[in-house]
Amino acid sequence: MSFHTRKPMIAGNWKLNKTIREAIEFVTLLKRRLSDPQSVDVVVCPPYTALSDVAEILTESEIGLGAQDLYWEEKGAFTGEVSGVMLKEAGADFVIIGHSERRQFFHETNDTVNKKTKAALKSNLTPIVCIGETLGERESGKTFQVIETQIKGGFLNFSREEIKKLIIAYEPVWAIGTGKVATPQQAEEVHAFIRKELAKDFGEETALGLRILYGGSVKPDNISNLMAEADIDGALVGGASLEANTFLDIVKSASMAI
Ligand code: PEP
Repeated sequence: MSFHTRKPMIAGNWKLNKTIREAIEFVTLLKRRLSDPQSVDVVVCPPYTALSDVAEILTESEIGLGAQDLYWEEKGAFTGEVSGVMLKEAGADFVIIGHSERRQFFHETNDTVNKKTKAALKSNLTPIVCIGETLGERESGKTFQVIETQIKGGFLNFSREEIKKLIIAYEPVWAIGTGKVATPQQAEEVHAFIRKELAKDFGEETALGLRILYGGSVKPDNISNLMAEADIDGALVGGASLEANTFLDIVKSASMAI
C-alpha cells in the first residue's frame, strides 16, 4: 500500500482585474500576512502586465506566481500572444490553461488546451488545466461524457511523466462567478471520476498523486466542506481572490480543513 500526500493549493485567478499598482499593494499585504510556512500552497495569477513586479515582491516568499494563459509557439508573428519562455522570465511558475472563459469567449478547444499544456511543460511552467461542464450539459446528463472528452483531448499523447507535473481544476461552468457553488458531493463525484479516468490512461500511481482543485464560487464559508472531500485538493478562486482579507480567510479555512 502506498500513501499519497497531495499538498492542497489555493490559487487566485484575478482575471482582468488589478493594475500594476493594485497588484503590488495586494501581494505586499499577502506576503506580510503569510510569512509563516503554510500547510497549503498559495498561488496568485495576476494579468500579464503585473507579473514582473509581483514576482519581485514575492521573491523569498512561499507564495507562488502564475499567469492566466499562454500561447504554444515560442516566438513569431502572433500579435498579442505571450509564450511560456516569456512568462517564465517574468517570474511565473504556474499557468492557467483552458479556463472556461477562454473556451467560451476566445474559442479555445481541447486541442488548443493540449498544445498549450505541452508548451507550458516545455517552459517548465506548472499548468493548471481547467475542465468542466456547462449548465446545459449537466442538465442533459452529459457531465461525465464532457469531462471524459476534455481529458482525452486535452491530454492526448501525454506521457505519465507529463501528467504527473499537472494540476487540474474542475470548474463547473454554471458555478463560475454565479454565486452558485457545487455541493461538496457534486464536486467530489466529478473529482473522483477525473482521477479514475486518469488512472485508466496513465496509471493509478499517477492519478493518486495528482492535485485536483475545485473552482466555482468558492468563498471563506464553503471551502472547508469542499476540502473535506477525499478527492478535492484545494481551489481555484476567482471573485473571492480579489480582496486580500477574503482570500486570506479562504487560505486559513483551507489550512484548518486539512
Ligand atoms: C474562476 O474564474 O476560476 C472561478 C472559479 O471564479 P469564481 O470563484 O468567481 O466563481
